[in-house]
Amino acid sequence: MSVIHKDLTNKDYVSWKQFLSETDAWDVRRIREFELSEIKRVVEFAYKNTSGYKRIFDKAGIKPDDIKTLSDYKKIPFLTKEMIRDNLDEFSTDFPNRFYVTTGGSTGIPMGMYRDPVSFAKELASKAHQYHRVGWKEGDRQIVFRGLQIDTPDGTEFLPEFNELRCSTYEFGTDKMEIYRRKAMDYKPDWVRCYPSSGYIFARYLKDSGKPFPKIKGILCASEQLYDFQKQLFQEVFGTGTTIFTHYGHYEMAAIAGYCEYTDDYHVLPQYGYVELLDKSDNPVTEPGATGEIVATSFIMHATPFIRYRTRDLAVFKSLFCEKCNRQHQIWERVEGRSQELIVSKKGRLISTTMLNMHNDTYDHLRQFQFHQREIGKVIFRFIEKPGCNEEILKKVKRNILGKLGEDIELVLESVEEIPLTKRGKHRVLIQELDLKFDHPAMKRTLSL
Ligand SMILES: [Zn+2]
Repeated sequence: MSVIHKDLTNKDYVSWKQFLSETDAWDVRRIREFELSEIKRVVEFAYKNTSGYKRIFDKAGIKPDDIKTLSDYKKIPFLTKEMIRDNLDEFSTDFPNRFYVTTGGSTGIPMGMYRDPVSFAKELASKAHQYHRVGWKEGDRQIVFRGLQIDTPDGTEFLPEFNELRCSTYEFGTDKMEIYRRKAMDYKPDWVRCYPSSGYIFARYLKDSGKPFPKIKGILCASEQLYDFQKQLFQEVFGTGTTIFTHYGHYEMAAIAGYCEYTDDYHVLPQYGYVELLDKSDNPVTEPGATGEIVATSFIMHATPFIRYRTRDLAVFKSLFCEKCNRQHQIWERVEGRSQELIVSKKGRLISTTMLNMHNDTYDHLRQFQFHQREIGKVIFRFIEKPGCNEEILKKVKRNILGKLGEDIELVLESVEEIPLTKRGKHRVLIQELDLKFDHPAMKRTLSL
């Protein structure tokens, strides 16, 4: 039997995973009861233990006891990122063993918060619960390409207690990738765990070099949008039928939503938090295909509670149950147009970076690329060329991208030697420097997602 990391045998982890599995088939009535009782509990806890929530509740004339139905819940004022950024202590409690973490600032609002060991164990267990749907087990062998900086000569480290071979993606040149590939040939991982962007770069290396990689069960992605062009390459390189799983989550631990056994739709986990999808007038999105902002209340965060928290992330509504797995969970067709994943055209159209999926050889002559927007209507396309790339090819690349972006975009091509990583070690598809709040004028227009 494989050794399992102590986090994975920790009692909070084990009991939460057990709870999730026992309640996985709850019907919608049972789910609503649970959600309402958790909302009441969290609201009362935050009201009693933080001055910030007390202040905004008092100002809105709401007492925790007033919340008797889910309609009452909708009277609760929103919590914004700015409120947490500017008044963290006011919105935090002195929960035991709390520790401070910060987001990478990918939304443009760097923000810190407190977590506690129980919330973290529940977070790990919630992810594991979702991974179980696609056959992952505690103790499975994993190779990891995430934003880890590893100070060993070859950039790898093995954690026997996690059964995890971690590879640094800070230096992710072909020489390093070849080292990782060779190590994987010996290690024979069951799973690749990665940011889609890092996994994509590695998969491109495998494809271009034509070198083998051991047969894996699947790829577990996290933290970033997973694009179709990335999925396609994963299937091509790791084998058709390779499981590709991803989920939506965030540092604030208010919402988590993953694929199921059968579909690539996002299933919102109701035991984790209460999640609304709200349109521009803050009404619930109910039409399949319509987009809304993810607004969520965490049931697991107690050091910094998040109640009716505006994430600024957008999702496309699908239904209130999954026809394939029968879970009566809120289902999203896509999570996209996170504000940092939208481009604004000269006419103010919003273009999701998922539009930049290319079902042809557009990106084949490039080792890596990134879009960058600093001003409305103008986009810089930065790329590292592969040997053999030429003017003719680049003209075609430009034509193909413009074909997707539309004519009201000025596209500037910029060949570079290196594309720097974000502070978290991510390779972002888009660096968006415009402040695209949900109430940005451009956001009031129809989203062309
Ligand atoms: Zn399903």
